[in-house]
Amino acid sequence: MPRKRLIAGNWKMHGSVEGSRALVAELTGSNPSVDAQMLICPPAPYLAAARDWVSGSHILLGGQNLSEHVGTGAYTGEHSGAMLEDLGCSHVIVGHSERRSYYHETDALVAAKFIAAQAAGLVPILCVGETLAEREAAATQAVVARQVGAVLDAAGVGAFASAVIAYEPVWAIGTGKTATPAQAQEVHASIRAMLVERDATIAASLLILYGGSMKPANAGELLAMEDIDGGLIGGASLDAAQFLDIFRAAAG
Ligand code: PEP
Repeated sequence: MPRKRLIAGNWKMHGSVEGSRALVAELTGSNPSVDAQMLICPPAPYLAAARDWVSGSHILLGGQNLSEHVGTGAYTGEHSGAMLEDLGCSHVIVGHSERRSYYHETDALVAAKFIAAQAAGLVPILCVGETLAEREAAATQAVVARQVGAVLDAAGVGAFASAVIAYEPVWAIGTGKTATPAQAQEVHASIRAMLVERDATIAASLLILYGGSMKPANAGELLAMEDIDGGLIGGASLDAAQFLDIFRAAAG
C-alpha cells in the first residue's frame, strides 16, 4: 500500500499572533488537491488560536516539544502531551537536533518523550541525524542507528505503527545545504532496513521524512526517492507560497 506523504512545517520560535494567523489564512485559502497530509507546528503559545484557524481545513496541527512526564505535575514551564492533544494536535516533534544540542536532550529522554506522546494519543515525529563532524568521520549510519535504536529498545517496534521518523542531517538544518537525494535516500533506506529486521509490515508503512533546507527548488528530487515520504520543513514553512510549492511537489 502506498504511503500517504506528510509535509510538516516546524515554525520554531518565530512569528506573532497576527503574522501566524495571516500565514495560516494563506495556507487554508489555497487547498491544492494533492493526496498528502499537511501539518503545521506553531510555537506552543499560538496553538490554541491555531486550532480555530485550521478548523474545518485540511491542515493538521502539531507541537514542537512536550514533557516526558505524563499527567499533571509541578514542572514549571513544561506542557504535556495531553495538553497538546487537548489543543487539537495530532502530532508532536521529538528529538529535534536543536533540542538535543541546546537543551541537552539525550537519547533516553527523547525515548521517554516519544512514549509520553503516544500515551497522549499523539503521533511522535522522531528526529534523527548526524552532525557534520560525524558525517566526515563516516559515522552517519552509526549515529542514526543509535538514535533510532534507543527508541526501538524503549518503546518496541510496535510503537512505530503510529510514529513518523524525520531524518535531519544537522549540517543541513537552516544552513541552505541540503543532502543530495542519494545521500538522503541511503540513510532513509538504512532506517527502514533497521525496522524491517524487527517487523516488515510496520517498516513498509512507516513514514520517513527528510528535513534540512528543503525548498521548492529541491523538494521534487528529494521526494522522488523511494524511501523519502515527505518533509519536515523549517525556514520554508514560514512562507506560505514556498510551503505550498513543497506540498505540491509531494504529488510526485
Ligand atoms: C527543521 O527545523 O527541522 C529544518 C529542517 O529547518 P530548515 O528547513 O530551515 O533547514
